[in-house]
Amino acid sequence: MDILANFIDGQYQAPLAQQYLDNIEPATGKVYGQLPDSCQQDLALAVTAAEKALPAWQSMALEQRADYLLAIANEINNRLDELAIAEAIDNGKPVTLARTVDIPRAASNFKFFAHACTQFASEAHAMVGSAINYTLRPAIGIVGCISPWNLPLYLFTWKIAPALAAGNCVIAKPSEVTPKTAAILGEICQKVGLPNGVLNILHGRGTNIGQAICQHKKITAISFTGGTTTGAVIAQLVAPSFKKLSLELGGKNPALIFADCDFEDTLEQVFRASFANQGQICLCASRLYIERSIYHKFKQALVAKARALSPSDPLHDDCEMGAMVSKTHLDKVLGHLDDAKAQGAKILIGGQQVQLTGRCQQGYFLQPTIMENLPNSARANQEEIFGPVITIQPFDNDQQALALANDSQYGLAATIWTNNLTRAHQLAEHINTGIVWINCWLLRDLRTPFGGMKHSGLGREGGLDAMRFFTESKNVCVKY
Ligand code: NAD
Repeated sequence: MDILANFIDGQYQAPLAQQYLDNIEPATGKVYGQLPDSCQQDLALAVTAAEKALPAWQSMALEQRADYLLAIANEINNRLDELAIAEAIDNGKPVTLARTVDIPRAASNFKFFAHACTQFASEAHAMVGSAINYTLRPAIGIVGCISPWNLPLYLFTWKIAPALAAGNCVIAKPSEVTPKTAAILGEICQKVGLPNGVLNILHGRGTNIGQAICQHKKITAISFTGGTTTGAVIAQLVAPSFKKLSLELGGKNPALIFADCDFEDTLEQVFRASFANQGQICLCASRLYIERSIYHKFKQALVAKARALSPSDPLHDDCEMGAMVSKTHLDKVLGHLDDAKAQGAKILIGGQQVQLTGRCQQGYFLQPTIMENLPNSARANQEEIFGPVITIQPFDNDQQALALANDSQYGLAATIWTNNLTRAHQLAEHINTGIVWINCWLLRDLRTPFGGMKHSGLGREGGLDAMRFFTESKNVCVKY
């Protein structure tokens, strides 16, 4: 049994109340470990440690701070295989995906912000002939970072790295569904000699320790990634204390596929955008709008590809589709499918749980699912399902495609597939999402602003946006 501990003040510590939660391997459905169900007393220890560490960390020379972050990045790379296997066991994702995407990206997050903090500059505003204003960018202090289960170490470090780079001490909480790689990060901090208390990692339930982090008086900013409903709860929790708040929430991302696209390349990439990580990426395409003249051909090709993709043991190197993260989540997705069927959806392929044999017999596997024949107002087109489930609909012209894409409470990401650049730019200008990809998906430059509009979130992560979020701006005006 793999029993995890909190990482507080540079040491692994059991939860004070000795309460634990089970950790389940989704591919087998079996409990393989336990994690702390932390409470306010654990948080109090972490905050005390962070307070003690803060003065030295925020006044440390930038190069030295950057060196620590680079050392963490290197150590993540040194432990790439071990972390990838841990992620695949914990989350159910294909180990090859963890090895080529999740873990390398976690290392890149630290490397990127190590460099970003040495390049981050503040502004000056001259009042010619009378005064000069300059803006200081001090660290906020102690910040809380709360992350979800779908890209566990990738998203955990996407928050922690900029928070540390900007000079803050951090109290971080990974998802209770996927705590393992976050727990290993503590060992990495010990190995590189990160000063004690600079990063503290607490495990447990969102409604318990997560909520306590949001409400703690000495934690003055919260960076959250997760579901829109949780985001709304957190916004209410922190509002009375005016903490800085960044919310990266759910999506219902449209893909607009035009007849003049490069058919084979679009098919390949849209398929990946639909089903990568079992469709459990906030940026996955879930509503496909296809120009009528190629609708039938594209649909047939998509279905053929889906038929060739079956879930298998995530720990096998050739696995392309792993397990859904939990029984609860699998049931939620199956519930959406039942509802869609009741509303008249035609299931072109999938729609069923899959039972594997051997080690994974009790695992949470779902076939890739493609549905048509639903109005845009149907739940399956409006609510985030967050699984390997897409709907397809035909459209007749650019205006109709745009209207369908924008007919959503969400506004995270959109993809446009066309060789007509004028059309692509015009659509990109009018689509209400924080991210638009043209003829590509998940092509990421970490300098760019990342985040969503409408119910997909508040604020932007990435590059200097993250450095600005994790610092205060203070203007100093000097008269001469
Ligand atoms: P979730 O909202 O259930 O949980 C996310 C985190 O918040 C977990 O660590 C959880 O313990 C914690 N939490 C839950 N309730 C809380 C509360 N009341 N107070 C404080 N913390 C609380 O989300 P999830 O199911 O883990 O993740 C899936 C969701 O995340 C999807 O909606 C997906 O779209 C979204 N997501 C968004 C992005 C993005 O960048 N926009 C990226 C990845 C995932």
